[in-house]
Amino acid sequence: MNKNGKVATYIPILARADPDSWGVSVCTVDGQRHSIGDVKDPFTIQSVSKTLTYASILNDRGSEKVHEYIGYEPSGHSFNKIRLDVNGKPHNPMINTGAILACSLLKPEMDKRQRFNYVKNKFQNLAGGEFMRKNLGAFLSEKDNADQNFAIAYYMKANKCFPEGTILEEVLDLYFQLCAIDINCESGAVIAATLANGGVCPITDDHLLRSETVQDTLSLMFSCGMYDYSGQFAFKVGLPAKSGVSGCIILVVPKVMGVCLWSPPLDQWGNSCRGIEFCENFNEQFHFHNFDIGKEMTLRQRHTSRSKYQNKAMEVVKVLFGAFKGDVTAMRRYALQGVEMNQQDYDGRTALHVAAAEGHLNVVNFLLEECHVDFRLKDRWGYTPLEEAKRFGKKDIEELLEQMAGYEVET
Ligand code: GLU
Repeated sequence: MNKNGKVATYIPILARADPDSWGVSVCTVDGQRHSIGDVKDPFTIQSVSKTLTYASILNDRGSEKVHEYIGYEPSGHSFNKIRLDVNGKPHNPMINTGAILACSLLKPEMDKRQRFNYVKNKFQNLAGGEFMRKNLGAFLSEKDNADQNFAIAYYMKANKCFPEGTILEEVLDLYFQLCAIDINCESGAVIAATLANGGVCPITDDHLLRSETVQDTLSLMFSCGMYDYSGQFAFKVGLPAKSGVSGCIILVVPKVMGVCLWSPPLDQWGNSCRGIEFCENFNEQFHFHNFDIGKEMTLRQRHTSRSKYQNKAMEVVKVLFGAFKGDVTAMRRYALQGVEMNQQDYDGRTALHVAAAEGHLNVVNFLLEECHVDFRLKDRWGYTPLEEAKRFGKKDIEELLEQMAGYEVET
């Protein structure tokens, strides 16, 4: 076990962290979960909040407006340095200058209570409603130990970085409050998975962020998310990630999964030692590096060399298997991907036949109400989904399909 690093000590809650705590949680874009270790223990989100704040303002105000105030270039300086870029703007939203400025762009028209609730709600939705709470103690300690952040904010004020009417104390309070939100590995993994899934939360299927928002957010996580190790991390791991001084890292494998790691001891750059080691080993195992073209090419080549029947067969199997398992989340995902939910296999069976025969009322409801599939299709033996429900004694489904058929006759 990697015992390197030291826990952050600038506030008591971080100084008290158990250096042996260690959790890894994974959530895939179709909502599969796997967690190991202390994945339910709370920790403050810290700088990972910068990612979510940035995504929120992008989503609310659009990239052009946001980048009138904040750049998108790595700074080459430590995260809390009092420095602006050549245009007199914060270099990027993943360091303190940019993140504090981002807070001034968050619903400035709201009063401070409403504003915090609005943002917290956004964060909570990105986490699929899973564990998240404000941590008053952490907020107060952040505020008590914030000379550097006050200095940054006043420096930016002197350089006219903020939009007109900005109330500096409120902006800083919001920044501290957002850093002081507690999450755990499980909820962090859902946040990362929502980003991996183009802004659609894999747990709730809520469409929370526009794809442009996600693209910009991941781009800056990729180039600036890991403090002064960002360049090396991009080189070695090749994936967007963001870390915080509580020892957490969210790692995004676009279109595949989100991962949240937590281990408090930090390296010289402020990244979790174990977290970094995990990311580097993970990559050796799975080759998710963005530019691992060798492996990707072979995959793609395999894909394009499949005949159209092979591709079709794989799709049918996927949909019918989801129905067989009663996995509504997977089914919804296929529907969102534009998969034809009415398709029949070589025996003429549809997902609705399978779900009816297996008695998965939730899938039947989803297929009928949200996908509007054709419930009259017959399989090669002449059975409709209604007859399947009857044959296998699935009463509730039989009634539902009978109602549908009856309604059709009446209208
Ligand atoms: N609350 C910390 C600060 O602004 C965030 C530190 C971090 O996670 O990078 O100094």
